Order: sequence, then structure tokens, then C-alpha cells
Amino acid sequence: MKLILSVIWLASLWSLCTGGGDWCYPSQFTCNHQCNVPEKWDHANRDCAGKYQSPINIVTRKTLKDDLLTPFEFKNYQQIFRSSIKNNGHSVQVNIPHLSTISGGGLFTSYKAVQLHLHWGNNGGPGSEHTIDGEQFPMEMHIVHMKSHYSDLTTALRDPEGIAVLGFFYERSNSANRKYDPVISALRSIKATNGNTSMPPLSLAQLILSERNMTSYYRYKGSLTTPGCTESVVWTVFEKPIPLSQDQLSAFSEVQFNDGKHMIGNFRPVQPLNGRQVFRSGSTVMMSSFSLLLAMVAMAMGLSKPN
Ligand SMILES: [Zn+2]
Repeated sequence: MKLILSVIWLASLWSLCTGGGDWCYPSQFTCNHQCNVPEKWDHANRDCAGKYQSPINIVTRKTLKDDLLTPFEFKNYQQIFRSSIKNNGHSVQVNIPHLSTISGGGLFTSYKAVQLHLHWGNNGGPGSEHTIDGEQFPMEMHIVHMKSHYSDLTTALRDPEGIAVLGFFYERSNSANRKYDPVISALRSIKATNGNTSMPPLSLAQLILSERNMTSYYRYKGSLTTPGCTESVVWTVFEKPIPLSQDQLSAFSEVQFNDGKHMIGNFRPVQPLNGRQVFRSGSTVMMSSFSLLLAMVAMAMGLSKPN
């Protein structure tokens, strides 16, 4: 009996010391909570050691311009919906009614929005998952979509292109972005893990950029950035960041992990490219030089007109 008890005691101690297989970010790791940090995520999920993982550092001079990467068509992104926001212990997440879809943008089919969540640093410090030429932004939003004909994420994840994620960077601005008020004020009510609160009606369009600011983006094939790290994601990372004030960015740091510590640094470090090509849309530069040309022609015509 004594032997059995000591075996059980040893076993429980063992599971305590190895973290029992729960995954975490480095900001959560302590001697008392030895969870699996990103370098060990593959212990729980072999896919996390895959060859085509996300996020990545995008080296702009190595990207390849692809004329097929046309502007997106956003359907029902203006649609106002009622939803709730939840602290899931790793991020804050808004579930989206499956009404809004994206197509175009070099995608081969349409995808519907399922949920959005964010990754951030400490009080507006570096916190994005993707980086551009080594630069890390204060925060990054992921709007997760799945192919429109699927009804659940589990099925979509079995398809190597089943998921399309739109990634948006943030930048610090001097004035508050009032369109974010519903999200920011809801954070106060979901500080604790599993906290859940309803949000005032909002649309996806109010949380992203204007359509003309979304024509410039990067595209590559990758994975989910949290375990299981499934390699089924067509990634779109928009070049232009969304502005938020310092106070708005800092509000995210007040949310807590399940141990009550500040939820900060909930981003995965960049992963090796392993030979993947990153593409970039070409329309913005082309459009702007074309409109410049038009403007010059119009001006020349205007100047030559007799008064
Ligand atoms: Zn994410």
C-alpha cells in the first residue's frame, strides 16, 4: 500500500514538473507553472514541428509580386451583428455569425468568417506574430475564415487550404480609434480566464481598414499559430496597420492568463520559412502610378484648355 501511494505521489509530482502537457507562452512560465513554451509545443502536438509553420518574418525584398493577388471582395463585412467576447486563457476571442465572406484576393473559393482574436505585447510593446523585415508591431488581429461549404473548423482543418486567415497589424497613434470602443470597453469584463461578455452591435468592417487600404498584402501557405499548429492556412498579412492609441493598446495587457498574471506576450515566435515563397499583391503600386498618370493627363488637359 505504501509503495502504491509513493508511486502515485511520484507520478503526480512528475506530471507537475513536466507541466502536464499544457501549452503556454513564455510570459506564463514559472517554476511553479512549468508549462510547455513554444519551443516545446511539439511535445503535445507533432504538427508544431512541421515544415510549414506560422508566423514568419516577411523579408520584403524576397517577396514575389503576383498579379493574381487582386483586391478582396468582402461580403457582409458591413453587416452589424451581436456577439460576445471571451477570454479563452490564451487570447480574447470574438465568435462571428457565419454571414461574412471573402473571395477574390487570389483565393480559389470563398471563405466565411468564423472568429477573430488578437496577439499582443506588454502595454503596446512588440507583440505581433508576423514581422516585416524583422519589425514587430504592437499587436496583430487574426480573422479566421473557413471554406464556405464547411460547417465546422475541425473538417476545414483537414483540408490543406481549408482555412484563410486575414492578419492585421496595429500601430500606435496619437488619438483613440473610436471604432474600437466596443472591444476595448468589453475587455474590463473579461479579465479572468473564461470570462465572457456580450458586446454592443458591431461589424467586421469597423475593425479593419478601408478597402482601398487592403489592396497591399502578403500571401503564403502556413499553419495555425497555436497548438495543434495545423498546416491548413492560406495566410494574408496586410501591409497597412490599424491605428490604436497607447491607452487602447495597453487595455489588452489588463486581461489575465488563468493564473491571474497579466496576459502579455501571447505571440508565437517566427518560424523557419523552409523554402516557402512569400508573394505580394501588386495592385497598389500599379494603381497609384496609374492614377498619378491620369491626374497628370487631366492636369495637362486642364492647363491647355482655353479660358
Ligand atoms: Zn492568431
